[in-house]
Amino acid sequence: MGRSSKDKRDIYYRLAKEEGWRARSAFKLLQLDEEYQLFQGVHRAVDLCAAPGSWSQVLSRKLRSSNETSEVKIVAVDLQAMAPLPGVIQIQGDITKVSTAHEIIRHFKGEPADLVVCDGAPDVTGLHDIDEYIQAQLLLAALNITTHVLRTGGTFVAKIFRGKDVTLLYSQLKIFFQEVTCAKPRSSRNSSIEAFVVCQGYSPPEGYKPNMSNPLLDHCYDVDFNQLEGPNRVIVPFLACGDLSAYDSDKTYPLQVRPLLFITSLSTQRHQYENLPTSSLQLDTGKEYNYVPPNQPPIRPPYQEACFLKKNNLLAKERPPSPVSTPPATNTSE
Ligand code: SAM
Repeated sequence: MGRSSKDKRDIYYRLAKEEGWRARSAFKLLQLDEEYQLFQGVHRAVDLCAAPGSWSQVLSRKLRSSNETSEVKIVAVDLQAMAPLPGVIQIQGDITKVSTAHEIIRHFKGEPADLVVCDGAPDVTGLHDIDEYIQAQLLLAALNITTHVLRTGGTFVAKIFRGKDVTLLYSQLKIFFQEVTCAKPRSSRNSSIEAFVVCQGYSPPEGYKPNMSNPLLDHCYDVDFNQLEGPNRVIVPFLACGDLSAYDSDKTYPLQVRPLLFITSLSTQRHQYENLPTSSLQLDTGKEYNYVPPNQPPIRPPYQEACFLKKNNLLAKERPPSPVSTPPATNTSE
């Protein structure tokens, strides 16, 4: 099948070429805008993961046609270089780096953006779990960079894979936005788990200081999480259960207890745990250690066969050499 058959099969691929878009994904953003009026009142926009540039083209055409072109500022970021577009400033950079956030802010002369879009996709490996994980990491990186550059009330749109852990991402986005919707434009194939989160009404938690330190991102070794405070810090409570008189699971207790001090403290424990069978530890002075078998040994442990082989001296026996068919002797004397 040549190029022409792809043209025939995919209507959006054909339309994109006819309408002058660099990629068929332009229609995804256009259809999202039809539903959400994303571009209303937008003067400053950021396109993360922009190459080859069809979303930047949409931003350029839409924003520059409805505003004074001098008022419009669009910054596009991608790891890869992109051919120039009218009214689009390009940054060849990585969206997981804080330096990229600073460069965007510098282009906006300190003013925050009204809209951030991200159609980022890592190179697909074909292993679904890994692809979903990397996509989620890229989305979190985009969210992080967005917290540096978006104005309060602004909008963030990003590609998401609706995999099994998608609810975790939704709840992370809900921390920062009043409205989070998952949208699937018609131009996005039904067979793909791709969708787009439309996050409206940016309102970070009070006192939140933007940083690139989402613990789910593993490139953030430069941040000391213990120094983060207030809403910047997520703390899962740690509860130590049991009091100090309980046995210490990291300690090795002797089979016969000798030191007097030890006996005293352990006898306190025994007092507290007198319903438990303690005979195997034989903690009483003077008594000999008496082995007590487990109450319920495993029924059919996976090591059973290995134990049997070892017991019967059958483990790792040298195999006799396999019989090799020897060719009939040839008489070379003739
Ligand atoms: N929206 C684009 C368009 O309409 O032309 C298509 C984007 S393409 C599907 C995904 C892009 O994500 C690739 O160009 C890739 O280089 C970029 N990307 C992936 N990881 C990135 C990262 N860490 N930083 C910047 N760009 C990244």
